[in-house]
Amino acid sequence: MNRKSDLIVLQRGWLSSNNVVIGDGEDQAVLVDTGYCTHAEQTLSLVQSALGERRLSAILNTHLHSDHCGGNARLVERYRVPVLIPPGQFDAASRWDESALSYRATGQRCERFTPDRALMPGSTLKLGDGLWHVLAAPGHDPDSVILFESRSGTLISADALWEHGFGIVFPELDGESGFDEVQATLDLITSLPVARVIPGHGAPFTDATNAVAEARRRLQGFRQDPPRHARYAAKALLKFHLIEVRQQSMHDLLAWLTNTEVHGQLWQRHFSAQPIAEWTESVLQELRRSGAIAIEDGVVLDR
Ligand SMILES: [Zn+2]
Repeated sequence: MNRKSDLIVLQRGWLSSNNVVIGDGEDQAVLVDTGYCTHAEQTLSLVQSALGERRLSAILNTHLHSDHCGGNARLVERYRVPVLIPPGQFDAASRWDESALSYRATGQRCERFTPDRALMPGSTLKLGDGLWHVLAAPGHDPDSVILFESRSGTLISADALWEHGFGIVFPELDGESGFDEVQATLDLITSLPVARVIPGHGAPFTDATNAVAEARRRLQGFRQDPPRHARYAAKALLKFHLIEVRQQSMHDLLAWLTNTEVHGQLWQRHFSAQPIAEWTESVLQELRRSGAIAIEDGVVLDR
């Protein structure tokens, strides 16, 4: 747990995004992002201890990927607080349209919750001594927002900027524009006086300039070679699934992939010169060589 003034970062892993508890005066606090659904009980107990005597007053989501809002339902059940989400997915979340919300396409899970208000880009939130600016940050997700507190220079960057890179550029997987938006979001971050970044995954860091430079290089690589981005996406989604299930027989894993729309799309768009089974095998072998997974006696294991 990393405490600085009235902000506590609950650093999680890759299946669950980081969670940030921001104090709002002496007796209340808000929570930014809630992790993956299978970690909801752990999230609840981490949040409980971070809150101490304070009450939770709201849940904010930077975006609605399963690893950022999967704890919403459990936390709302416990605290009965409003959930604020970016406006672009408000309708889809209200109707719980799992296709529009990406869970069906990625084969990920998220427990249903009901959003209460929109977290509008351009608006500000006064929390204690902090003034948090809500900023649109499309790219990784068209509707994502990031949060910037100008007095302390604290940026909650979600998956728009990590210390080393950024999240999959999902719109590009659907053949829509995403790389330009990533660049615009990096430009926006460059224009802010950032002193400290709290990313969606990984430890907080202070050298935003270096992180943005690295992100720009990565983006440039993807622009020049879109299949490289597609392959990164395939590996990241497979790894995410294996972190969730821990291990799976090769037979069941292949069945899961067959039912996972995004996997077929990736293959179709970029790698269909090769049979899908062969391409899938090559992705798995690449993950195995990098040490991210192991394959033993027909069983695929997370590492
Ligand atoms: Zn995300």
